[in-house]
Amino acid sequence: MKKISIWEDSIKLDSYNKLNHNIKTDILIIGGGITGISTMYYLEETKYKVTLVEQNKIGMATTSKSTGKLTYMQNDLLYKIKKIHGDKVLLDYINSQKDAIKMTKEIVKKLDIDCNLEKVSSEIFTNKDNEIPKLKEIEEFLINNNIKVSSSKNNIVNSKYIIKANDTYIYNPLKFINGLTKNIKNNIYENTSIIKITKEHDYYKCITNDNKEIKTKYIVLASHYPYFNIPYMFPIKGYIEKSYLSASPYKSKNNISLISYSNPFISIRTYENYLIYLSNSHSTNKSINDNKNYQELIKKINNLKLNPEYLWSNSDIITNDYLPYIGVLKDNIIIGTGYNTWGLTNGFLAGSIIKDIILKKDNKYINLFNPNRININTITKSITNGYKNIDSFIKSYKEKPKIKCPHMGCNLIYNDIENTWDCPCHGSRFNEHGKSISSPANKDIDI
Ligand SMILES: Cc1cc2nc3c(=O)[nH]c(=O)nc-3n(C[C@H](O)[C@H](O)[C@H](O)COP(=O)(O)OP(=O)(O)OC[C@H]3O[C@@H](n4cnc5c(N)ncnc54)[C@H](O)[C@@H]3O)c2cc1C
Repeated sequence: MKKISIWEDSIKLDSYNKLNHNIKTDILIIGGGITGISTMYYLEETKYKVTLVEQNKIGMATTSKSTGKLTYMQNDLLYKIKKIHGDKVLLDYINSQKDAIKMTKEIVKKLDIDCNLEKVSSEIFTNKDNEIPKLKEIEEFLINNNIKVSSSKNNIVNSKYIIKANDTYIYNPLKFINGLTKNIKNNIYENTSIIKITKEHDYYKCITNDNKEIKTKYIVLASHYPYFNIPYMFPIKGYIEKSYLSASPYKSKNNISLISYSNPFISIRTYENYLIYLSNSHSTNKSINDNKNYQELIKKINNLKLNPEYLWSNSDIITNDYLPYIGVLKDNIIIGTGYNTWGLTNGFLAGSIIKDIILKKDNKYINLFNPNRININTITKSITNGYKNIDSFIKSYKEKPKIKCPHMGCNLIYNDIENTWDCPCHGSRFNEHGKSISSPANKDIDI
């Protein structure tokens, strides 16, 4: 069985040099996932000199381990946004996801990117009685806003109610990122990590892991979870949710894209002759037993009479009020993150929003995703997340062996399925040799 995502095995990625000299640029993008590459792409046609640095390989962090769905049928997120922010914000959010899908489709066509983009019906299902009214409320909301949905049936999962929309897609996220990157002429550096940012006069000085200096007017933080904590306080602006995934040989006449309404999530889709199955999602500070989670996942797949060929895990940031953080953090520092496990749409959209912010153009989503917004949820959940951070920090000390995460000092746990060192607090990951492979940590560890 391969302990990598099915996407990582589907393509040989292009490579880019490491930065080995000091440079000056107008815009520095930190991170080459969907957010960074989309931003870079949208800034191509502007007058600015843009540079992107990626601490490992382009696309190989969170983006390469997702399920590759492009949909606005986003489990219970829609219901949560409706309850917290109201109908208008929910409609704006759904429209933002539809725009992101449309823009992705157009770019795939324009650049002729071979990324297995296919139209599919997206379904949300529940087998819990208490969730049916909530799912029906979302169905009614969509219908009232002229978005075509219908109730549905499916044989793969046990369900009491399913709703389905037709104008959604699936693709191979890594092939998409690689195809988009090929069309970028500005400079990209791999194996180059930013470890320090200071403000000097009217520019920022960024120091890389090799002690090279980058002077820049703008910084785009596209690093998923930013290492640079203070004064942005990301550890209390959300929590990390981890899920376990598999891909097994599977023959199906039609493509499938299914997700359960709520936690513990089950998310399913087809890809060529495989079925991708995700389950056992949890907040990283609640359960840290990777082995047990993998065993449970395998049991579920075996019940479907499937034999997995790929196993992997992935984590994303869940924000305090369930909307992403995209926009100006402070001065000329702009961020795109906090996608609540829906970053293939939100991260792609972030690129066009960030471009408009830098060009000082209007964009209808700037207010919606303002990273400095304050509301009752951002305040109360900050307190809870602060407490959970301390709790997971303490819990991590009860685990052995004691290797510390360079981010905030939590003890790392060895994930012996994927052979990685994983941080239970904020999701940093290191390979078996100690190389940092997932933010927020931007330094390697000594093993
Ligand atoms: C299990 C799971 C399934 C998902 N499935 C879907 C899906 O089907 N559809 C969907 O829309 N979304 C999905 N998502 C969400 C989506 O994968 C993420 O939201 C998205 O990939 C995040 O992209 P990103 O560019 O912000 O981060 P990343 O892809 O993690 O990119 C950030 C990059 O920054 C680099 N970096 C970090 N720190 C530094 C530094 N200091 N210097 C230089 N580089 C740095 C990292 O190496 C990394 O490559 C899923 C998430 C999970 C957890």
